[in-house]
Amino acid sequence: MSRHFRKALVIGGGIAGPATAIFLRQAGIDAEVFEAWPWSTGIGGGLQIAPNGMHVLAEIGISDELIRRGSIAESFDFYSQSGARLGSVNRNMQERFGQPAVNMCRATLNTVLIDKAWCENVSLHFEKRLVAIEDRADRPVVAHFSDGTMAEGDFIIGADGVHSTVRTHVLPDGPRPFDTGLIGFGGFVPRAVLADRPIGRCVETTFGRSGFFGYGFCSSDPADGVMWWSTQPSHGIDAATYRAMSQQEIKQHLRLFHAGWHDPIPQILDAAENIVVSDTLDVATLPVWSRGRALLIGDAAHATSPHAGQGASLALEDALRLGRLMQDGHELGQTFQRFETERRPRAEKIVALARRNGNSKREFSPTGAWLRDHMLKLLLPVTAKGMNWMYAYDPRRAA
Ligand SMILES: Cc1cc2nc3c(=O)[nH]c(=O)nc-3n(C[C@H](O)[C@H](O)[C@H](O)COP(=O)(O)OP(=O)(O)OC[C@H]3O[C@@H](n4cnc5c(N)ncnc54)[C@H](O)[C@@H]3O)c2cc1C
Repeated sequence: MSRHFRKALVIGGGIAGPATAIFLRQAGIDAEVFEAWPWSTGIGGGLQIAPNGMHVLAEIGISDELIRRGSIAESFDFYSQSGARLGSVNRNMQERFGQPAVNMCRATLNTVLIDKAWCENVSLHFEKRLVAIEDRADRPVVAHFSDGTMAEGDFIIGADGVHSTVRTHVLPDGPRPFDTGLIGFGGFVPRAVLADRPIGRCVETTFGRSGFFGYGFCSSDPADGVMWWSTQPSHGIDAATYRAMSQQEIKQHLRLFHAGWHDPIPQILDAAENIVVSDTLDVATLPVWSRGRALLIGDAAHATSPHAGQGASLALEDALRLGRLMQDGHELGQTFQRFETERRPRAEKIVALARRNGNSKREFSPTGAWLRDHMLKLLLPVTAKGMNWMYAYDPRRAA
């Protein structure tokens, strides 16, 4: 039980927010979560939670349900644009790391996390967009919301993602998100689309001369059983511009961009509906993660472009580690410092890896693409071993 703090204001009801609130409750601290958007169950595309993130979901008690509602990924396989197999990584994750990698709909993860937070007596408030924080000595810290309401607590956790408002409180002149020049499209198609290509539990991914395409099972529901995503150079056109287009226009763009790519990519694009478009953002390293009684976690602290498939797992790890450190009952500033000292090296190593991976999805000349594919074929076994440190981390046992 923490001796010093009774109430946390957690800003953001995405991944880090509800998970942190659950772990704070376990540490004997009341937690209220404030989410800017209305409660909704159908947001976003698919994602993969790696074994290190699955340890956290197991600790929360929701890993079995997510495995049941998602799909275990038994490998990550790479192909060239014409369909030549380049190699395979991330095999036997369960045996090697104690948890599998699991594909799931982001909406499923969010729903299950929020339901669990309700069950743990976390107070959840939707349509509460933080606009300002007041942190004055000898008074509770105050969160002000866009609807004119406010909330008071002993400290604030900024789990409000890449566009974090808490970050601008912690670092008023700090780094802002920047566009990495890549844009992401994604969504779901029915399982039947892969009837002619039984991929089993593999995630299949393809490096093109320009851009990248991936797909894999992610749900036990046959209607949205397959998640897919396309990453490509944005050529200066941002996600908002695409979002203003009709679905037919977006689909037409994707068909043209991926014309000539191997099967079943054309079939997936033909079947795609409700395509989600996202900018691929990054944030430069922050000089500090906390100020006074406000601490940043998850993407708010160390936003990572999605090319390492680790952002959500890192956010979950943060939640567990912060809960454990709060349990120790040290002074708040000391706890925040211990959290940052422990988490920063790992987070920054993964952010750097994601940046490097993103570079292989940019535009290549025909010779450049040929060389990259051959290098990948040669280097994948070595690269795969070099990533074990990421998955082998078990935040329940970290100190
Ligand atoms: C296309 C794409 C694919 C990805 N795929 C993967 C993957 O396969 N595996 C993986 O591990 N990671 C993946 N990621 C990264 C992952 O989604 C993020 O790292 C993760 O969501 C971070 O969790 P978070 O809780 O810190 O932030 P978020 O999930 O972004 O949650 C932040 C929440 O805060 C809310 N919020 C924002 N501002 C305010 C405010 N002012 N007041 C109140 N609430 C606010 C937001 O509405 C949101 O709900 C992907 C990212 C993208 C863009």
